[in-house]
Amino acid sequence: MFSCPNCQSKDIGKIGINQYYCWNCFIELTVSQGIISTHQVEEDGSLSSLDDLFDEDVRRYIL
Ligand SMILES: [Zn+2]
Repeated sequence: MFSCPNCQSKDIGKIGINQYYCWNCFIELTVSQGIISTHQVEEDGSLSSLDDLFDEDVRRYIL
């Protein structure tokens, strides 16, 4: 399991294939080709990317 790139919490729940959810800061994490993509769920249910906030080094999925 990896840490949330946003809050470093390890309180990550699996919600689908390569899809995870951080229960600490409530963002969705998608793992693709070794990189974690981060999305925030907006009030209307749409997803907005948070990837611009993080360097790729931070988002690299370390097994
Ligand atoms: Zn988090």
